[in-house]
Amino acid sequence: MPIWGVVNQKGGVGKTTTSVNLAASLAKLGHRTLLVDCDPQGNATTGLGFDKSKAEATLYEVFVDAVDNSDNPTAIHTAIAHISENLDLVPATLDLAGAEPILLNAVGKELILRDALGPVAKDYEWIILDAPPSLGLLTINILSASDGVLVPMQCEFYALEGLSQLLKTIDIVKRRINPKVHVAKVLLTMFDPRNRLTFQVTQEVKDYFGDKVAKTVIPRNVRLSEAPSFGEAAVTCFPTSRGAEAYTEFVKEVLACVAP
Ligand code: ATP
Ligand code: MG
Repeated sequence: MPIWGVVNQKGGVGKTTTSVNLAASLAKLGHRTLLVDCDPQGNATTGLGFDKSKAEATLYEVFVDAVDNSDNPTAIHTAIAHISENLDLVPATLDLAGAEPILLNAVGKELILRDALGPVAKDYEWIILDAPPSLGLLTINILSASDGVLVPMQCEFYALEGLSQLLKTIDIVKRRINPKVHVAKVLLTMFDPRNRLTFQVTQEVKDYFGDKVAKTVIPRNVRLSEAPSFGEAAVTCFPTSRGAEAYTEFVKEVLACVAP
């Protein structure tokens, strides 16, 4: 039962698009999947068509509950929303921006998410954690709860900037908190073959990460950016689009890499 965090502190590199399409593809293939929106922007929540105003509880309540009442946390059960066959979501709203100060004062502040997921982890074959664009306490909680980290990278000039900071953070979490955590896959997103820089950046990423770089690249594809407005992942909304086909292909690689 892998837990994967989709992490890159750079904004707008395709974390949420990847999280939503990965989770929806896994569900489509019959794997019981939970997507946890760990970003106060709540883009994964909107992208799956969940009405934030109707949320009984969100990841914020899960954190508050875990900090207040650590013996008997119940909010995780209330927060889980059923989206479609095999796909559940823990939604996030802007409230989540208020979670960091609460976590800061908690004992074991890096492990609150891991512990909160504990009671439901056995219900799922896959748990996907969509990270915010920062290396703050929410992301540290994601790294502490994850077995694998999936790093989406946009093929542009600044792609590698900040990467050493991300890898250093993963390394510290590995040494001090969660020995299992490691970079499981690096995914090149918004791949545009018309841009010469794309190939240069691709080569640099491959030199750095070797065979961790997924063979599948995600092309720049308008269907991937349109799907959230339909409240559905592109892999279910526009399954024959180039973007959705690339994510479907990528998911095969993911499954092959965790196969026993
Ligand atoms: P943030 O750091 O703000 O959470 P993110 O890393 O989650 O951003 P996304 O929200 O997935 O990034 O993508 C940023 C924008 O680019 C979105 O508008 C999304 O629809 C669009 N996008 C993502 N991937 C592609 C793609 N392959 N082709 C075209 N548009 C894309
Ligand atoms: Mg996002």
